[in-house]
Amino acid sequence: MTPAWHRRLPSTRTLHLVPSLLLWAVVACAGASWLAVARLQQLHAAFETDARIVHRLLSQRVVQHDAIMATLALLQPAAAMGDHNPSTAPSPLPRLTSVYPQILAVLQRSAQGEWPPALQAELSVAEATSRRSGHAAVAGLNLPAGRYYLVLAATPASYSLHIDLRTTIPADEWPMDMATSPVRVTLEHGGETFVVQPGRTDNAAWSRAYEFHKLLAAASQPLDVVARRSVGLRELPWWGMLGWCALTAALWLAGRALQRQRIARQRAEELLRLGQVARLNTLGELAAGMAHELNQPLTAVLSSTQAAQRLLADDPPDLDTAQTAMARAVEQARRAATVVGRLRRLVERPDLAGQAQPLALSAAVHDVLHLLEPELAQRGITPQVTIAPDLPAVLAEPVALQQIIHNLLMNALQAMEQVPTAERQLHLALAPTSAGQVALTVRDHGPGIAPEAREHLFEPFFTTRTGGLGLGLTLCESLAQAMGAQLILSPATPHPTAADRGAEFVLTLAVAPAGP
Ligand code: ADP
Repeated sequence: MTPAWHRRLPSTRTLHLVPSLLLWAVVACAGASWLAVARLQQLHAAFETDARIVHRLLSQRVVQHDAIMATLALLQPAAAMGDHNPSTAPSPLPRLTSVYPQILAVLQRSAQGEWPPALQAELSVAEATSRRSGHAAVAGLNLPAGRYYLVLAATPASYSLHIDLRTTIPADEWPMDMATSPVRVTLEHGGETFVVQPGRTDNAAWSRAYEFHKLLAAASQPLDVVARRSVGLRELPWWGMLGWCALTAALWLAGRALQRQRIARQRAEELLRLGQVARLNTLGELAAGMAHELNQPLTAVLSSTQAAQRLLADDPPDLDTAQTAMARAVEQARRAATVVGRLRRLVERPDLAGQAQPLALSAAVHDVLHLLEPELAQRGITPQVTIAPDLPAVLAEPVALQQIIHNLLMNALQAMEQVPTAERQLHLALAPTSAGQVALTVRDHGPGIAPEAREHLFEPFFTTRTGGLGLGLTLCESLAQAMGAQLILSPATPHPTAADRGAEFVLTLAVAPAGP
């Protein structure tokens, strides 16, 4: 059962992904937002430009009305001056309506005459206004129908133009497609509206509204030019935004691939450093060197002893020469012993106790697990690591400690290859011992260790694996001893036939003395 104080190491694989994924998300969102904002600015600028052009065109047209009226007033037709009943007379300037299609009719009131009775009241008020202001005035404004009268008080005759706004719009110079443009253009006055261009309203969940308001540049016709446009979600540059996200995602993936390559390279270098490959090579060289160095003295011992045997068998035995031959054999045997001694010194570990330093056992475990990530993934094993809280630092030589943990884990992984993937479990526990040390327990759920194999596990060249060297545990034990630690097969290791079969190894390390 897992004690309550145990906690689990989070998966390093997922943890490594989080910052770079966040970075990608930030870059992708920032780029996409920038594209969206740029498009909104572009649409706003186009809207403002179109609205100003519309305002200028409409102003030019209505100013034209003022100019026509001023011309009419200046060029008072002679006929008009003498006409006593102009309101009943036909329009004095019938050609004006054919030249300017927006002018439906021209009315004239001479000094003694009256406006047509139906319009008398409105036109008279506008005429009085015009007389006061000195410029034309609007009368009978019917914006929904797009019609109004423009009255200019003049002497001797006053004039009125009946204007149709629908034909005032210069369609050929219009900056937008009137039927399809999303911009709505209206002329407004006193709560009434004349729709110049219907536009399109976006009912999307999100939309941004642009508005333009400006009075026509003609004091006589104070109509408000209003342009409105709403930009909906579908007008955002989705393809560009998605493209940017895809591009950054591709770059992120490429970056991840490069990083993975770098980690794999580092891992390979690290494995080499741990001596996995190098040790096997060295072992081969060592064996060849040993054979070569020992061959000569052993052959000499053999020939000297055989010679002594022969000399002693002679009748009478040649004792002197036999003694010399035996002395030579002793000399060669000593030489062989020196060679063996030299080789042993060569392979003996240096005194690691002197190189032991305080270090965090959990960090060493974490490093080795990281190194073995591909091996673990390949075998479908997720290691369960439990670490006691406030675990003190241990005294160990970093490389030797890594090598021991690495060997123990590799043995566990190799052992578990013999059981189905679903049954593979690997537990690592880091906890203080009752004797004031720190223990690392490596427990696997492989086939376990047969009782007859238990006592030979740490012997050199003991192996049950085909292709195994039987040196791993020997090396681990000597490394542990060299730095004042201890490696044992846990007595808790169950019998291979037990339900909770598997092997448990315990590495016990000294606690580092508290710092100054
Ligand atoms: P090798 O791995 O080359 O065989 P080792 O010294 O590492 O050499 O291991 C010696 C033997 O101990 C192995 O052949 C195996 O029989 C046994 N052994 C070691 N670790 C385990 C384990 N976790 N489960 C079962 N048997 C193991």
